[in-house]
Amino acid sequence: MSDAVEYTFAHFERIAEENRFPENASIEHDSNMCLICHPENIPGDSFKFCLDLIVSCILKRRPRIDESLIEAVNEEMEMLGEDYRITLQELLNEEPEAVKAWQMWARSSINTGLEMLSMHSQNAPYYQLDDLDESRSQYVRQKLEEFFRLQKGTSTT
Ligand SMILES: [Zn+2]
Repeated sequence: MSDAVEYTFAHFERIAEENRFPENASIEHDSNMCLICHPENIPGDSFKFCLDLIVSCILKRRPRIDESLIEAVNEEMEMLGEDYRITLQELLNEEPEAVKAWQMWARSSINTGLEMLSMHSQNAPYYQLDDLDESRSQYVRQKLEEFFRLQKGTSTT
C-alpha cells in the first residue's frame, strides 16, 4: 500500500470511529496526502477504491452482526416499505430473506457513505451503486460478500 492509500484509509476510518463522517469535509487533515482531495492519484479504479474505503469505514461502526445491526436493517426495511423484519438468528443462519434484507441495508449504507464522501472536497468523486458496468458490478458483489463475511466472522453465534 502506498503512503497516501494508508493515510487516506486511516484518516477516514478514524472519522467513522468518531462518528463524524457526515462532517468529513470540515475536518482538518493533510490534503496533499488525501486521495479523496486528490483522486487523480488513486491507484487503479477510483470507484473500487472508494467502495473499499467506505466498506472499511462502515465496518468501524458496525463490526459485527448483533442486535443493533438487526435494528438498523429492520429500520431500512421499514423505510423501503418492505413488510418483513428479520431476527439476529435468521441472519446468522444466513436465511435467504435475512441475507437479502442485509444486502439492502448494506447497499443503502454504502450509497450514503459514497454520497458523504463526494462532499469531501471540490474534486471528490461521486459514485453510487447503480448503473455500473460489468466489472464494477462484479466487484460490488464480491465486496458485499467480503463485508458480510467480516461482520459474521466477529459475531458470536
Ligand atoms: Zn481530503
